Amino acid sequence: MTAIHLEGLVKRFGDFTALRAMDLEIRDGEFMALLGPSGCGKSTTMNMIAGMEAPTQGRILFDDRDMASVPMGQRGVGFVFQNYAIFTHMTVRQNLAYGLKMRGMPRAEIDKRVGAVAELLQLTSLLDRPSAKLSVNILQRLAIGRSAIIEPAIFLLDEPLSNVDAAFRAVMRTELRHLQHAFRQTMVYVTHDQLEAMTMADRIAVMDHGVLQQVGTPLEVYNNPANVFVARFIGSPGMNLLKGRLADSDRGPVVDLGQLGATPPLPDALAAAARTAGAEEVFYCFRPEEISIAREGRGLAMPVTFVERIGARTIVHLGEGEETAKAVFDNDVGLSAGETAVISANEETVRLFDAASGQAIGSA
Ligand code: ATP
Repeated sequence: MTAIHLEGLVKRFGDFTALRAMDLEIRDGEFMALLGPSGCGKSTTMNMIAGMEAPTQGRILFDDRDMASVPMGQRGVGFVFQNYAIFTHMTVRQNLAYGLKMRGMPRAEIDKRVGAVAELLQLTSLLDRPSAKLSVNILQRLAIGRSAIIEPAIFLLDEPLSNVDAAFRAVMRTELRHLQHAFRQTMVYVTHDQLEAMTMADRIAVMDHGVLQQVGTPLEVYNNPANVFVARFIGSPGMNLLKGRLADSDRGPVVDLGQLGATPPLPDALAAAARTAGAEEVFYCFRPEEISIAREGRGLAMPVTFVERIGARTIVHLGEGEETAKAVFDNDVGLSAGETAVISANEETVRLFDAASGQAIGSA
């Protein structure tokens, strides 16, 4: 096992900066997901850890060892890409054994490891099949096995499940987690799919435009997004953000949402944090799952524009223009487009963000 430290890591391609001064500690044996939209710099970061790209600035340390002069082959990393790299003229067994054979491992030990990895990845019944005849799903499973069998201290996976089908992806999420537990490797997993990151990772590093936005456990980034980008990006749908101004009312501090009216009084801790931050314009934010909805009563009245039903799940689309929100329920709430709904956010999970900086200014 090995810890990875990225210190002030920068990558420029000509005039373009793909990664800006990234500091990140990936702990020994940790499963860290690098999560962000396409082009945010995830693969660039990964390629530098692997030694495929040199940093423009900054350092990469494995434990205390600076990797600057250590070539890829000597870094002790296993790497799996989106596109499996398998020798199609070999059988599954030969593919799995290949790396161990190259390292001169005794036959008996190779057989033992091949058996164990095949078992773990449910490849046992396929061991003597020619790889050329396998499905994409199985080929990717084999590619993971072929890298894992070397038992690298660090295992890097770059979107390994993006080409496999949805059902198989769900199975592989569990298997990869088991694999990491079995080998106790430090695992870095690049993905743009938050479900993968949320279900598998110990911690998630959320990135956007070459900037690390937040590092935290899946629940931390979900419950306490550091900024507006993370609030919108994490969650499906992401958080609702309504722009307003902090104001006083006879019931206490509220957010004046203009045409939508004022919010209920803010929880004390949130109001105090907002005052300390000196924020004026803010985003009043709440999760679509943390809303109660009614036809009348106290709350924010918004027109229902669309009701989406996905099995038992209902997503109610509310509002128009800049004042829109989504509300998610596990049942049919009996509302239709054209009606007006009155919504109230669960005040314990309401968050505020400074509209000027985009940064979180406190939590309830
Ligand atoms: P994706 O999921 O689409 O691969 P990513 O987050 O992994 O996205 P990177 O592949 O790291 O993103 O790319 C980050 C940015 O750097 C992108 O804008 C990309 O076009 C640019 N980039 C990557 N490699 C090079 C290169 N060799 N030369 C020039 N620009 C590059």
